[in-house]
Amino acid sequence: QGSTVGEFADLMGVPSNDVIKRLFMLGQVLTVTQTMTDELIELIADDMGRKVRVVSPEEEYAVVYNDTEADLKPRPPVVTVMGHVDHGKTSTLDAIRHTGVAAGEAGGITQHIGASVVNIDGRQITFIDTPGHEAFTAMRARGAQVTDVIVLVVAADDGVMPQTIEAINHAKAANVPIVVAVNKIDKPGATPDRVRQELVEYGVIPEEWGGSNMFVDVSAKQRIGIDDLLETILLQADVLELKANPDALASGFVIEANLDKGRGPVATVLVQRGTLKPGDTVVAGTSYGRVRALIDPRGNHAEAARPSDPVEILGLSSVPTAGDEFRVFEDERDARKLAEERALRERLKAQEAKTHMSLDDLFSRIEEGTTELNLVVKADVQGSIEALRDAFDKMDQSEVKINIIHSAVGGVTETDVTLAAASDAIIIGFNVRPTAGARKAAEHEKVDIRLYRVIYQAIEDINAARVGMLAPEI
Ligand code: GDP
Repeated sequence: QGSTVGEFADLMGVPSNDVIKRLFMLGQVLTVTQTMTDELIELIADDMGRKVRVVSPEEEYAVVYNDTEADLKPRPPVVTVMGHVDHGKTSTLDAIRHTGVAAGEAGGITQHIGASVVNIDGRQITFIDTPGHEAFTAMRARGAQVTDVIVLVVAADDGVMPQTIEAINHAKAANVPIVVAVNKIDKPGATPDRVRQELVEYGVIPEEWGGSNMFVDVSAKQRIGIDDLLETILLQADVLELKANPDALASGFVIEANLDKGRGPVATVLVQRGTLKPGDTVVAGTSYGRVRALIDPRGNHAEAARPSDPVEILGLSSVPTAGDEFRVFEDERDARKLAEERALRERLKAQEAKTHMSLDDLFSRIEEGTTELNLVVKADVQGSIEALRDAFDKMDQSEVKINIIHSAVGGVTETDVTLAAASDAIIIGFNVRPTAGARKAAEHEKVDIRLYRVIYQAIEDINAARVGMLAPEI
């Protein structure tokens, strides 16, 4: 992936010049050492009558987790706190963090690394520090499933509110069990039983009523019922029988990351499998490096982080994004290669999304120095294509030269869109329609498809676009 013109030519067993020529025919001026996009690689290969499949770095480095039952060891639960605003999520997390800490010791006990761990009855619970379902769902959208149990905080004096329902739906979508913390029971107007009744309507039913959800009454402010809540989380975790293989190269997800003035890029990761140690070579998203130090949630240097442990990593090359996968590599070169390939892919994607031509921005492109307009023309009959070609030839092309990089009889297909995307072209459809697949691809690749029934309208549009006078599409 992301090979240069020269590498690609070698792979195909043809002279580089042949590839350059074919690229040129597609309106792409590239030199031997320049990188071809995956789309171009596929297009040129296709052009040469060869089929290639571009393997993504993720596929190339895909790991097979063939852990046997004997490899799997119990691991602590990872918990996210959710609930309506002001129902006491932050207070609950605060109360939990102070559990088991003598009064005098409190304060400064947890440094903020994005997650914290609590020990109760000799067992660990890991809490993700960012409460709420936005962070949870944003991580999930990136493929990161890090939460085993959700603690739903509902204020006993307020009951079920819109974000309570949202949290329930997010938990259900992720198939994560809910433990309900009915909070603020110290308040005069608190009616914890009414909260239970209201939740039944949303399928969250207390065990004592025959449902599957565990409920605990708490006061985060007065620190009532917090131990009970923690024990309940452990009970819920027991039901889940959480396990992972600790004896493997570590992998997991980035929970939080930032650039620290003194320490450089810093990322908090949650280990899901294996054991992470200082000196390990890691890739996190598009960033990589050798772990210089591991910092645990108490701010101490750690010798190892095992499954369900959150830990801060120092030593990365850049700042990854929350939700990025991280993985330890045996070979530093592999790590570097994966990170660089991912970075290249992201850059190409960003470029493509930005640079695709549309008639609407032709004028501003001309002002920025663009001198060419690439077109893919599809029409009902060959005669229409000829007529369009003639009309374009007669146009004033002193400012912008019009290149028809591809024309054919037939509807607009996905391949047309790919071609247009790769060559920054606009698609003109004359008396034809795009297929559903083409429409979708065009939307995704941000390729402009224009459909016309009369030639002069196409000419008029292009003329108007050149001077920034294109009427909005209806
Ligand atoms: P969040 O928006 O869900 O994170 O809610 P906060 O933890 O910030 O709490 C919102 C407000 O409720 C704050 O003023 C807290 O002091 C108050 N609060 C939280 N828990 C309790 C409680 O158990 N009892 C009482 N009386 N107030 C609470």
